[in-house]
Amino acid sequence: MLWSLFKIVLFVVLIAALTLGAGYLMETEGGVRIAIGGTELTLGTFQTVIALIVLVLAVWLLIKLVNLLVAVVRFLNGDETAISRYFDRNRERKGYEALADGMMALASGEEKVAMSKAARAEKFLHRPELTNLITAQAAEMSGDRKKAEQVYKRLLADERTRFVGIRGILKQKLEDGDTETAMKLAEKAFALKPRHAETGDILLALQATQNDWTGARKTLGTKVRTGALPKDVGKRRDAVLALQEAKEVFAEGNSIRARESAIEANKLSPDLIPAAVMASKSYLEKGNARYAARVLSKTWQAQPHPDLAAAFAAIRPDETPAERLKRFKTLTKHRPGHPESRMLLAELHIAAEDYDKARDVLGDLAETNPTQRTLTLMAAIERGQGADDDVVRGWLAKAVVAPRGPQWVCEKCNHIHSDWAPVCLGCGAFDTLSWTVPSEGEIKMPGGAEMLPLLVGKPREPVVTEPDPSPDAPQDEPVEPPHADYVEPETVDGEVLAPEVEAKPEK
Ligand SMILES: [Zn+2]
Repeated sequence: MLWSLFKIVLFVVLIAALTLGAGYLMETEGGVRIAIGGTELTLGTFQTVIALIVLVLAVWLLIKLVNLLVAVVRFLNGDETAISRYFDRNRERKGYEALADGMMALASGEEKVAMSKAARAEKFLHRPELTNLITAQAAEMSGDRKKAEQVYKRLLADERTRFVGIRGILKQKLEDGDTETAMKLAEKAFALKPRHAETGDILLALQATQNDWTGARKTLGTKVRTGALPKDVGKRRDAVLALQEAKEVFAEGNSIRARESAIEANKLSPDLIPAAVMASKSYLEKGNARYAARVLSKTWQAQPHPDLAAAFAAIRPDETPAERLKRFKTLTKHRPGHPESRMLLAELHIAAEDYDKARDVLGDLAETNPTQRTLTLMAAIERGQGADDDVVRGWLAKAVVAPRGPQWVCEKCNHIHSDWAPVCLGCGAFDTLSWTVPSEGEIKMPGGAEMLPLLVGKPREPVVTEPDPSPDAPQDEPVEPPHADYVEPETVDGEVLAPEVEAKPEK
């Protein structure tokens, strides 16, 4: 309101100034006298100003004419496009203006304006590689997928825009869930631009979901080579892929190649627990027990884990509890203070029926770190030392509602996995699982009773399947102390030493 008023006032003032100025000039004495040869021309002040303006216009016109003349001369000399180029310069200016307007419209979210400006720019410029980019984005923005696809296909024709075209169609195919076509497009796009991080990730994820581990390893290798991925990350992921490859090959029945892949995966990433377990099994199949033990104890140094202990037990399945205890010292000596080492030793002492020693090595773990496993171990120790049933039941009741301790948790979405997997079942992220205690809220699990039969006895007592959380509840069924489980190899492998494997986490 104020602005329009200001404009009106300004206009009136300007007209008044011009009129005043013209009147002043006309009244002013003097002027310019031009003498050419015998002719003499005298101009008044006002006429001089008019003449100057006319002169400027004439010069501008002359320059234009000279340019046209130059173009005509060039044309006559054989430069056929000279004249059209002269006129094109105008078109070019208009074209770039339209292009700029189109980009502005795109940035401000006016897809309709952007599309019409792109069409106008194309009319003047004939630069489809530029205008199509705007049209495609505007079409995508307005949700006109068909139009966008048409434009992407046009972009494929030009080498400079082929990547953009492929990427556009690839995204559309991914949205449609057409993974097969998407994979082919991703391969093409990755071949065009191996340094493009997003394309590499898409291709890798597609290959992983389709279990193309060999292809995924190749993609990963290219990514590391071109510098799109740090070397250490690449190595670790390569190990994960090699492990998956090993599992795949093993399932196909080619155990020799599977063994090699498993050992390779372990070498690439010695702290990758499932790779170490598989490599250990592979060495054992080759009859190399020493190497089998070595890969496990090396990984134990990095991260003690029940799966490693189970694999270590499987090296000598028929040894006595005393022999086993002695052999396991080579494993537990690496991380003696780690809860996993202490629990493992306690379990082995319980198996050897040396309950005093078991209590010793477990120490205050049941108080400082009360988990289902530590509390169940305490119950077994009490039982073995001849404590009252009430005491044993008290520990078991606590165990039922206790947290489960570390599990395979996705670092990205906190999804808990019963077994290690290369791709998170929750969010689909690659290599995000780590062996940690889940965050608050996920800790308490109603599935606690499932692990009890493994240590305390076979599931024939009601305490095992329907645990009573109250320690005062009447309980007549005695709880059997553990013993035979440790001698039997089939229960050793993945059960006694790794009760987590059996119990599936509830969501
Ligand atoms: Zn996840």
